[in-house]
Amino acid sequence: MKYIDEFRQHDLAQQLAQRIAQTAHPDRHYRLMEFCGGHTHAIFRYGVQDLMPGNVEFIHGPGCPVCVLPTGRIDNAIQLVEQHDVILCTYADLVRVPASGRNSLLKAKAGGADIRMVYSTQDVLKIARDNPERQVVFFAIGFETTTPPTAVAIKQAQAEGLKNFSVFCNHVLTPAAMQAILDAPVPVAIDAFLGPSHVSTVIGSRPYEVFAAQYGKPIVIAGFEPLDVMQSALMLIHQLNEGRHQVENEYSRAVTRDGNQKAQALTAEVLELRPAFEWRGLGLIPHSALKLKPAYAAFDAEQRFDMPAIQASDVKGCECPAILRGAKKPQDCKLLGTVCTPENPMGSCMVSSEGACAAYWSYGRLRNEASNQSRKTD
Ligand code: SF4
Repeated sequence: MKYIDEFRQHDLAQQLAQRIAQTAHPDRHYRLMEFCGGHTHAIFRYGVQDLMPGNVEFIHGPGCPVCVLPTGRIDNAIQLVEQHDVILCTYADLVRVPASGRNSLLKAKAGGADIRMVYSTQDVLKIARDNPERQVVFFAIGFETTTPPTAVAIKQAQAEGLKNFSVFCNHVLTPAAMQAILDAPVPVAIDAFLGPSHVSTVIGSRPYEVFAAQYGKPIVIAGFEPLDVMQSALMLIHQLNEGRHQVENEYSRAVTRDGNQKAQALTAEVLELRPAFEWRGLGLIPHSALKLKPAYAAFDAEQRFDMPAIQASDVKGCECPAILRGAKKPQDCKLLGTVCTPENPMGSCMVSSEGACAAYWSYGRLRNEASNQSRKTD
């Protein structure tokens, strides 16, 4: 198959659903964590869960980069723009994530802070070139997919001698999060993982092999389309039935075992591991994020400006942390659809285009369940 529509074909989905139903043993439960927010959205958008037998369950993981950023880092960014008169550049989803005290980057912008939404790091460099008298800070977030462009921008700024550009680096690493989930003091029951797609195009499938071997968890690197997700689920069910735990690659049209080595080398040239980094829901995880190497310290916003670590708490009642660990689902949150909606988000999982609560809300699950419930009581 070559075209996107082919990965959404209804009749093939029905055939796959039949094969999954025939393959899944009725006497066991299959708990498959989809690591990536893109998979979560595919599952909700195309109703993939409804095509599964009742004993095959998708558990949503921490693979949404906006969702896992702790509130304190957003507070840092707001302080930075308000106290140092910088131009703060960021990707769109982040501006609506609640910060402390019911604040957000969007509210700070409405209050006069110079916060600009960008589509790429090249936009940020252009803003820096166009405003030589102002400091321009890029609020960099994301997993391994968005990290190489940040590294390129830093190298480019150095080559151009840009003195007013710096990066507030919040890039995080997928394998470290997977390890944290598996090592959690109160582990969530997970039988297998759907491995991330975009991230794996960069890092390859090799970094997951240690988890399959040491923790006995099958992993299938899965593409984003509904048939990808279903085919990957079938591959995981086969592995679980056969007692195997290997890394398999369903997304072979884009992912290799070693990934994009040029992108990896670029990242390694500019960025290095932090000793530890705070994740929303997962807490402090060792070696789970990146910072600028000393050779590029001049472009590190955390060194250029005073940015103390801020401990902040989430909105009371928001279950985002438990949802990101896979311990709860959006429907377990009492605020879902009452006080928390996409227009008035209380947590990051409702804001981000990859968040589980946004997916649950956007594709009508809440409304469907409410109408099913009312039919039952009629
Ligand atoms: S529904 Fe809103 S408040 Fe509840 S977990 Fe999701 S984002 Fe947080």
